[in-house]
Amino acid sequence: MAQSAGFCYGVKRAVETTKKIKLENTSKKVWVLGELIHNSQVIKELEGLGIQTVDELPENENGICIVRSHGMPPQKIKEMTDKGFEVVDLTCLDVKKVQQKAVQLAQENFLVLILGKPEHPEVVAIKANAQLYSDKVFVIPDLEVLKGLTDEIKSHNRVGIVIQTTQKLDFLQDVIRYLIPLSSELKVFNTICKSTSKRQQEAIELAKNSDLMIVVGSKKSANTTHLAEILSGITNTIHIETQDDLINYKDIIEKSQEIGITAGASTPENVIKNVINQIEKY
Ligand code: SF4
Repeated sequence: MAQSAGFCYGVKRAVETTKKIKLENTSKKVWVLGELIHNSQVIKELEGLGIQTVDELPENENGICIVRSHGMPPQKIKEMTDKGFEVVDLTCLDVKKVQQKAVQLAQENFLVLILGKPEHPEVVAIKANAQLYSDKVFVIPDLEVLKGLTDEIKSHNRVGIVIQTTQKLDFLQDVIRYLIPLSSELKVFNTICKSTSKRQQEAIELAKNSDLMIVVGSKKSANTTHLAEILSGITNTIHIETQDDLINYKDIIEKSQEIGITAGASTPENVIKNVINQIEKY
C-alpha cells in the first residue's frame, strides 16, 4: 500500500474541525454548503452527527455555515454572513494559496489561465476571486480549449498560469510548451499541492512493481481520478469507490501476483481497510 494513501492534511483538518464545531455547539445548526469533501461515506457520517450538507443556503435559518476545503466564491461567503450565519472557513491552505496567486496575476494585469475543470468547486472559487480584479480570466480544462484561445493569448503581452491543486504535472508541462512560442512574458505558478505530488509519485513507484493497481476513492474526486489515469499508463489499474465494487474484478484480483493499493485524498481509512480485507479474502 502506498504510504500516503487516504486523507491529506487539508481534508483531515476540514473533517475533524467540522465534527468538533458540532460537538462544541450542540444547540446550533451546522451547515456545509456543497460537499465538505468528495466522499459520500463521510457526508453520510456528518449527516448522522447532525451536520447538514446543502446545495443552496437555506432560507430563514441560522447557525454555523462551513466553507468547505475546496473554497468558495467570495460572493457566496458574503451571502452567508449577510443571511446571518456564523461563517467558519475551512478552505485548505494550499487552495487559498492558488486563489491568492490568481488574484496577484489579475492585479498585475496578466491574462489569467486556471488549469482545471470549470465545474470543479475549487476552480469555481479561484476564478471568482481572480474575476474581482480582471475580466481576462479563463479556465483551461484541456489543450483543445487552450488552442481555441490562441488569438486572445497572442493579443495579451502577459500571460499567467495557476493550476488546480490536484491536477497532473504533465498537463501543466503541455500547456507551458504550447504557450512559450506565443507569449513574450509567461508567469507560471505550479500550484499542484505537495500532498498530491507525493501521493502521485509514491503510487507511480508502487505501480512499476505491481501487476495490478487498485485506486480507492470517489469517482467525483479529481485527485483520485487523476491517480487512476496516471497509473493506467503504467500497469493494469482499477478505480473503485468501496469494497463492494471489487466483486466486478474478482478474476483479475485472483490472477494478480503483486497488487498495489492507493487512495485519494478524501478516502477514509476504514474504506481502505475494508478493501484490503476483501482482497485478502479473494
Ligand atoms: S489535496 Fe492538497 S489542496 Fe486539496 S485539500 Fe488536500 S492538501 Fe489541500
